[in-house]
Amino acid sequence: MRRLHLPAAYDTARWPDSHWRATAPPPVRAPFEGPAEAGVAVIGAGYTGLSAALALAEAGVPVTVLDAGQPGWGASGRNGGFCCKGGAKLSDAQLVRRFGREETAAFLRFQDDAVAHVGATLERHGMDAERGPDGEVCLAHSPAAWAAMQAEAEARRALTGRAPRLIPAEELRQEGLAMAGAHGAEVDPVGFPLHPMKYVLGLAAAAEAAGARVCGGSAVTGLRPEAGRWRLDTERGPLLADKVLVATNGYSAEDLPPWIGGRTLGAYSTILVTRPLTDDERQAQGWTSQSMAYDSRRLLHYFRLLPDGRFLFGMRGGLSARPEAQARVAREAREDFEAMFPAWAGVETEREWSGLVCLTGSLTPYAGPVPGAEGLWAAFGWHGNGVSTASYAGHLTGRRMAGEALRLPAPIATPPRRFPIPALRLPLKRLAYALIGWREGRPGRHQAPL
Ligand SMILES: Cc1cc2nc3c(=O)[nH]c(=O)nc-3n(C[C@H](O)[C@H](O)[C@H](O)COP(=O)(O)OP(=O)(O)OC[C@H]3O[C@@H](n4cnc5c(N)ncnc54)[C@H](O)[C@@H]3O)c2cc1C
Repeated sequence: MRRLHLPAAYDTARWPDSHWRATAPPPVRAPFEGPAEAGVAVIGAGYTGLSAALALAEAGVPVTVLDAGQPGWGASGRNGGFCCKGGAKLSDAQLVRRFGREETAAFLRFQDDAVAHVGATLERHGMDAERGPDGEVCLAHSPAAWAAMQAEAEARRALTGRAPRLIPAEELRQEGLAMAGAHGAEVDPVGFPLHPMKYVLGLAAAAEAAGARVCGGSAVTGLRPEAGRWRLDTERGPLLADKVLVATNGYSAEDLPPWIGGRTLGAYSTILVTRPLTDDERQAQGWTSQSMAYDSRRLLHYFRLLPDGRFLFGMRGGLSARPEAQARVAREAREDFEAMFPAWAGVETEREWSGLVCLTGSLTPYAGPVPGAEGLWAAFGWHGNGVSTASYAGHLTGRRMAGEALRLPAPIATPPRRFPIPALRLPLKRLAYALIGWREGRPGRHQAPL
């Protein structure tokens, strides 16, 4: 299989020692043994694949999920646990220009529904995934970002009838949201934090309870039509299925299926988690809120207090699986953490890890049939925002594959374009990161990186 990144990025023998694995050790699923048959085969046991499998199994469709690692080995077991709105990398105005006002408003409603869907799934299946308080805070990193935030709040009100609550800089400390360099904030009431591994393991267990077969250690190495069905090759024999869902997101191969090649770009996100902070330490920084929060940079930072008092701090921007590149981005994340939360500069990092999110050539996600390939479906491209979006899109895709006629909003129902020059995705991304970093500046480094 052809891959974009170095083999180490996809090596399922390596599973980072994340805070999530340490606090919710995942059980091992046995590998798939073939030959076997299924109504639907799902490739990838993350939120997308497992949400689809759950919906399919509940509709009575025989479904088998194959993961090269284990459920949650990919981004679904490594993320920040922000169950929030998002999924595309375009602004509302850009979405309106490309898809029109109505479809953009429908996509914004879809994002609200996605968050509600995760909440309802946790409740319906009695999953204890440490759901935290509602609301998501965005902190403006510059005066210009604060001005834009105020203007966008008005535009959002015009589009949806609702706008986020704005907090001026001088009130941030009393809200428990004192971050160095913040010029104000907005609070969106929709969204909540959760324990991402507990959630993905809950989905796997719920899918199995509904009748799905979930297999670990089962890389799909080939996919082709055979006698009106799809044949999936694995190390231990083939699986023949009427339909297939490709749910591999940031870990997708360039040729599984070839249609996906050049349309995705796996991008690194890196997280560090500190030791538990004392009450005094939290007061000293002025950050006591349990809300999930992020800053307004394009190469954003995201952070939140965990229920046990540890602080999670994440950052986009890593480019390679090379150990020295991973070590560099971990160092940069630590520098930025100390610059943004200076009172905690002496608080040790307990664990840090990274994983791949997925961008598409259109900067919008996709869930639907693969054009020109009867019975083959794909759902991917959550742009680093898959806890809610991947779950809901996976769920709806499962229902559609089971035969329900459901319509998705255009921004997620339109097959994404290929990147203009696929072979140059990584060098161009390196250039884009350098330019964005130069324009925005990193909090932990005052000189521009160029
Ligand atoms: C560090 C980090 C922080 C993040 N923080 C957040 C956050 O706070 N909030 C949020 O909404 N989103 C966040 N995201 C993004 C979110 O985690 C993803 O969008 C989401 O988990 C994607 O789910 P998925 O099921 O589509 O893919 P994944 O969970 O990545 O699963 C894909 C699976 O496919 C499997 N696979 C690949 N190829 C094959 C093959 N050939 N055969 C069999 N299996 C295969 C892989 O083993 C993998 O398990 C973050 C991501 C990262 C990496």
